[in-house]
Formats: sequence, C-alpha cells, structure tokens
Amino acid sequence: MSVIERLTKASHLIDMDDIIREGHPTLRKVAEEVELPLSDQDIILGEKMLQFLKHSQDPVMAEKMKLRGGVGLAAPQIDISKRIIAVLVPNPEDEEGNPPAEAYALKEVMYNPKIVSHSIQEAAMEGGEGCLSVDREVPGYVVRHARVTVEYIDKTGEKHRIKLKGFNAIVVQHEIDHINGIMFYDRINPEHPFAIKEGMLVIE
Ligand SMILES: [Zn+2]
Repeated sequence: MSVIERLTKASHLIDMDDIIREGHPTLRKVAEEVELPLSDQDIILGEKMLQFLKHSQDPVMAEKMKLRGGVGLAAPQIDISKRIIAVLVPNPEDEEGNPPAEAYALKEVMYNPKIVSHSIQEAAMEGGEGCLSVDREVPGYVVRHARVTVEYIDKTGEKHRIKLKGFNAIVVQHEIDHINGIMFYDRINPEHPFAIKEGMLVIE
C-alpha cells in the first residue's frame, strides 16, 4: 500500500508517527503541483490533515493520541511530496476566558498555494518558530514577509486570492516553505539569530 493510500483510509487518523522529521529527504524536495480537477484522494488527504490539526489542539484528543499542538501541516511532512497545506489558527479567548465569537482566524486546506505579492516590510515571531518535523528548539527570529497575498485552490476547486498579515501570514509562509523544501531555521541569521533588521516587525 502506498503512503497516500494508507493515510487516506477511512479509519486512519494522522498522528505523530506519520510525520517525518528533519533529515528525511522529502522535507528538502520541491513538491509537485496538485493536478486539477482535484482527485477524491487529494481532497480526503487535505481533510485528514486539517483533522490532525484539530485533534492536536483538542486537549483530550491530543493527550490520547500523544500529539504535539500545531497550527499548520504541509503534505511533505507526511511524506507526500505534493503542494497541499492545511492551516488552523484559533482565535484567542477573551480576557474572562470566554470562547471567541469566531473559533478560527484561519481554517483552510490550500492546494497549489502561491505567494503572488508581499510587503517590503519583514516580520518575525518574538518567540521564534517551531515545527512538527523538528524535535528540538531552534531559537532566533525567523525572518518573513510581514504581509502576503496568497492564491490557492480550495477543496471544491474554487480559486481564492487572500491577503494575510500577523500570525496568519507567518503560519502560511512556514507551510508554503515546506512545499518548497525550506525549513524555518533556514531563515534565521546563523551569526546573529536575534538581530532585528531595520523596520522588521516583531510579533508577540
Ligand atoms: Zn513546519
């Protein structure tokens, strides 16, 4: 059975054993464009990826399935070298701990996502970045575009063009890097990991 056949079986739930780790050659490949119209298999794979992120953010499921929490997953991370990413960015609770009106700031499976334009301004997360395929901390500012315009196809085959900023922009750039064989630490200045480039936005 091929990897994609196994991952898209009705009974299969993606877990940490499906996620390949740094050093695996698939993480360094430029992934293939997904063929259109989308195959049922590619649609199911995207749904499974999004479901993994949901489970990883659910305290009960995450504990039961021994998942690390994640907000994004790219198909190469499950050893499928295709241009598919899933992103699930929750909105925070309010100050009293009530759930937000809108559960997610970003919830999507993107096929053939592409950055079509970006700001000159750069941005980095104050606390650096982590990755489900990297079992160690790599401190430093991961320098990215502060704002991006992204085009992608959704699971129904519809084309979208969206503008992203803040954390959403960071997450989508991290995942698009995966389909281009780039790891987050490639974007950390090796000599001065916490150097703040002029004009760079530091996101809390
Ligand atoms: Zn990653």
